[in-house]
Amino acid sequence: MPRPLIATIDIAALRSNLALAKARAPHSRAWAVVKANAYGHGLERGMRGFAAADGLGLIELDAAARLRELGWNKRILLLEGFFDASDPQLLAEYQLDTVIHCEEQLTMLEQARLQTKIDVHLKLNSGMNRLGFTPAKYRAAYERLRAIPAVDHISFVTHFANAEDPDNPVLPVQEQLRRFREATRDLPGEQSMANSATDLLHPGSAADWIRPGIMLYGATPGGQSAEQFGLRPAMSLSSEIIGVQHIVAGDAVGYGSAFVATGPMTIGVVACGYADGYPRHAPSGTPVIVDGMKTRMVGRVSMDMITVDLTPVAKPRVGSKVTLWGAGLPIDEVANAAGTVGYELMCGLASRVKVVEVN
Ligand SMILES: *Cc1c(COP(=O)(O)O)cnc(C)c1O
Repeated sequence: MPRPLIATIDIAALRSNLALAKARAPHSRAWAVVKANAYGHGLERGMRGFAAADGLGLIELDAAARLRELGWNKRILLLEGFFDASDPQLLAEYQLDTVIHCEEQLTMLEQARLQTKIDVHLKLNSGMNRLGFTPAKYRAAYERLRAIPAVDHISFVTHFANAEDPDNPVLPVQEQLRRFREATRDLPGEQSMANSATDLLHPGSAADWIRPGIMLYGATPGGQSAEQFGLRPAMSLSSEIIGVQHIVAGDAVGYGSAFVATGPMTIGVVACGYADGYPRHAPSGTPVIVDGMKTRMVGRVSMDMITVDLTPVAKPRVGSKVTLWGAGLPIDEVANAAGTVGYELMCGLASRVKVVEVN
């Protein structure tokens, strides 16, 4: 038998979360974002769960080609564009939409002399200072794109730095919106700017296309809980207790003896560690569920195990069921306790973890 550690991926939850994202932006079409192996859920599962999306967005060119081989025949958008002068040929071959965010990509596209047309999405740096042309250089980039015979439709995209914190004093959402509107004024073409936080908190900025990612997997970028929005967790990580220890005051648990008992307690050892994707920096107190009871992780996270406080559990034993995150324990809650975000936990699910699917 393999270890009892299992990630359950709920395809119906993916479907339901996409429906919710679309319902929040009823006048927009949706790129369902499936980068990073569909945020750790599996590219092919993402493709099936998001069959109702108008397109799929991702970063990896090889994964985009794989989607075509798997039979996805709607649009696919490369959210960072491409990286090499040989890539545009593949974009044409696989019929991929691409973001163009810098001069170098423009030049590569000009020089590719493609025989088949492709759609491009011109990215504005509206203040995040990650990818995109500055407002001052945006029009010139647009004119260069227009002059490329193989460029079919040109769309306009930007990305918010603070959609989950709209009144951020350094860069409010409204300021990025203003810059985007100004830079694209009079330019004919579709617009897209909304990630999950924008779709959840600023439905007015949905534009022609939304680009939800994290919400489709049943987590949120911050603020209100996923459940409050009606989102369903798509990934549940579960395991079992594989060892039980009874300790007394003064006894320590695990590496570094980082947790010391102040009274008698029962410790459960769970088959799940940082080599499975559990965050190594999760401190004592990080929530975990054993046999339906919420309790806490104690001591340091090891490579293959964590240790938990079984005091609140009625009849703890080897084989007791453990939920690390997912149904019954929001991934955002675990991430928050560990000083990270649900995104990192999902994406970090290790390949050695057995995955099962429910529909
Ligand atoms: C990842 C990504 C998204 C999705 O972001 P979420 O916060 O997961 O909703 C949207 N747009 C771009 C350009 C991205 O890279």
